[in-house]
Amino acid sequence: MIPAAFEYARAGSVQEAASLLQKHGEDAKVLAGGHSLIPLMRLRLAQPSALIDINGLKELDYIHVEGGRLRLGALTRHVTIQHSAEVRQNLPLLADIASEVGDNQVRNMGTIGGVFAHADSAGDYPTLALMLDAEVVTDRRRIPAREFFQDLFTTPLEADELVCEVSFPVAPGSHRYIKFRRRLFDWAIVGAGAQQVDGGWRVGLTNCGPTPVRCTAVERALSEGASVADAAERAADGLSPSGDLRASPEYKKHLATVLVRRAVEQAQTG
Ligand SMILES: Cc1cc2nc3c(=O)[nH]c(=O)nc-3n(C[C@H](O)[C@H](O)[C@H](O)COP(=O)(O)OP(=O)(O)OC[C@H]3O[C@@H](n4cnc5c(N)ncnc54)[C@H](O)[C@@H]3O)c2cc1C
Repeated sequence: MIPAAFEYARAGSVQEAASLLQKHGEDAKVLAGGHSLIPLMRLRLAQPSALIDINGLKELDYIHVEGGRLRLGALTRHVTIQHSAEVRQNLPLLADIASEVGDNQVRNMGTIGGVFAHADSAGDYPTLALMLDAEVVTDRRRIPAREFFQDLFTTPLEADELVCEVSFPVAPGSHRYIKFRRRLFDWAIVGAGAQQVDGGWRVGLTNCGPTPVRCTAVERALSEGASVADAAERAADGLSPSGDLRASPEYKKHLATVLVRRAVEQAQTG
């Protein structure tokens, strides 16, 4: 499949990317790893008038630990996150999740900023971002994760707004992310994450609705002393996942309770 015609410009700085986005108007799109955008263009589900390529922006490719936060530049690739010693030390669950995104080709090219801007409900990092109250930093503001994922493929980003960084609180405690899929490199049919923070648990789900889900009912039950099995029964509370070729809504809700139980149990036993 061949994409519709588009203009192409390579940005040399964040400032230049911003002014190119403004110049080309709201039909222009940022090109990062291209692993979500290019397939959509080839299917002509996206027909941007111009692509603003940010791949040369070294200033957006970094991992810093500062003031209790792990800060990742938007252009940090999945493979870098997967192998980063800083990430393994400060937020090992993020490195584990990165190692399960797609296959080698996807991990070599795909970026964390692209995952957030694209906001696919099956994206894996957004679940952790919601669980930990991460922040998306753009060229003009900071947006808490709980306000960022508004609907399927829908965020508060303006058409000419650039994601520059994603910032997570450091959380080196017990953790587990389980991705349920039919084949090794598939997207999650359902994913479940558990992370210990300050002696309590943060729990979340991937692909159980139009946005990532934080399982506050499970977190509350655990903090009140419920068994993991009993707490996990609350995982499907309020969920209304859509069905697809791989799973019905009922099956996804069943998976949510089973995977949340396994994720917390496996996090507890290391
Ligand atoms: C075969 C395959 C399997 C995959 N499996 C998984 C998986 O299991 N889990 C998972 O989470 N993901 C998966 N992905 C998606 C992958 O993680 C993509 O890399 C990611 O969704 C988009 O990142 P990108 O850098 O490729 O962005 P692009 O494709 O370049 O861009 C995606 C969208 O975000 C916008 N954008 C990108 N960067 C910015 C920015 N800095 N500021 C503003 N807007 C921006 C673009 O304009 C576009 O609209 C898979 C992809 C493929 C092709």
